[in-house]
Amino acid sequence: MIRDFVYLRPGTLAEALALLSEHQGECKVIGGGQSLLILMRQGLVTPAYLIDIKHLKELNSILLDGKGGLSVGATTTHRAIETSETVRTHFPVLVEMERNVASIQTRNWGTIGGNLAHADPAGDPGPVLIALDASFQAASTHGERTIGADAFFLDYFETALRDDELLAGIHVPAQRPKSGAAYEKFTIIKNDLGAASVAASITVDDAGKCTNARVVLGAVAPTPRRAMQAEQELLGRPMSDGLLNRVAEKASEEATPISDIHASEDFRRHLIRVLTARMVAKAWKRAIASN
Ligand SMILES: Cc1cc2nc3c(=O)[nH]c(=O)nc-3n(C[C@H](O)[C@H](O)[C@H](O)COP(=O)(O)OP(=O)(O)OC[C@H]3O[C@@H](n4cnc5c(N)ncnc54)[C@H](O)[C@@H]3O)c2cc1C
Repeated sequence: MIRDFVYLRPGTLAEALALLSEHQGECKVIGGGQSLLILMRQGLVTPAYLIDIKHLKELNSILLDGKGGLSVGATTTHRAIETSETVRTHFPVLVEMERNVASIQTRNWGTIGGNLAHADPAGDPGPVLIALDASFQAASTHGERTIGADAFFLDYFETALRDDELLAGIHVPAQRPKSGAAYEKFTIIKNDLGAASVAASITVDDAGKCTNARVVLGAVAPTPRRAMQAEQELLGRPMSDGLLNRVAEKASEEATPISDIHASEDFRRHLIRVLTARMVAKAWKRAIASN
C-alpha cells in the first residue's frame, strides 16, 4: 500500500525548484512514475511530498544545437526520442537504444530524466550516453551545473544529483567525423531490463585505424562502466579478428557481474565478451561508412 503523501504540481521549472528546495530530503520528483510508483508501493520509498514535473513544457524538448549537438529535456519520453526524426538522422544509436527500453507502454510514459535519475545499473540509456560523451544538466534554486555522464552514476540507484537538484536535461555533443556507435543488450524476458549490455563508440582515421574508442558495459557492475583497458587496446590499431577477441576478453575481465535469478556471473561475462566484439565491429563499420 502506498503511504499518504502531498501531491504538488508546480506550473514552472522555477516553482518546481523552489518546492524541491523547501522540501528537500522529504520529497521526490515524479516524472512518468514508471519506477517510482513501484518503489512507493513496495514501501521502499516513502516521500511526504511528490513534486510532479512531467507536464513542464520547459523540460520537454529535443533540439539540435548550432554545432550539431543534441539537447533533450528531462521530461521527454522514451517514445518521443525513439520516434524523433532529428534523433534518427543525427544520433541513430539513441533510437537503437530506445527500442530496447521496456515495452511501448512504458516508453510512452517514462521519461529519459526519470530513467537516468533512477540509476538502475541495467538501465539502457546510461551506457549509450557515456559512450557518446554526453553531459547532464542539474538544476536547483542556486542555478545549473553540468555533470559528465560518466561521473553521474555513483552506485546502485545513486547519482551525483544533490537533494535540492533535479535533472533538467542531457546534451550529446556532435560526434567527430568518421565516428560510429552501436548498442545491444541481452535480455532473458522480452521488454525487461537486460542481463548484460554493451555500448561502443569508435572513431577511425583515413587509414582505418581507431583514433578514439569508448566501450561501456551495462548491468555488470553497480553502475554503467567504461572498459578502459578494452578501449586502450583499440587505439591506434586497424580492425582485425585478433583485435576484436583481445578487446572482448579485456572487457569481460573488467566487468564485475553478480549472479542473480536472471543470469550467473559466468554467463554475464560470456555475454560481455560476445556483445563487446559485436558492438565494436558494428560501431567500427558505421564509422567507416560515415562522413
Ligand atoms: C515493466 C518495466 C520494464 C522496464 N524495462 C526497462 C528497460 O528495459 N530498460 C530501461 O532502461 N528501463 C526500463 N524500465 C525503467 C523505465 O524506463 C523507467 O522506469 C522510466 O524511464 C523512468 O522514468 P519515469 O519518468 O517514469 O521516472 P519516475 O518513475 O517518475 O522516477 C524515477 C526516479 O527518478 C526520479 N526522477 C524522475 N525524474 C527526475 C528528474 N528530472 N530529476 C531528478 N530526479 C528525477 C524520481 O524521484 C525517482 O526516484 C522499466 C520499467 C518498467 C516498469
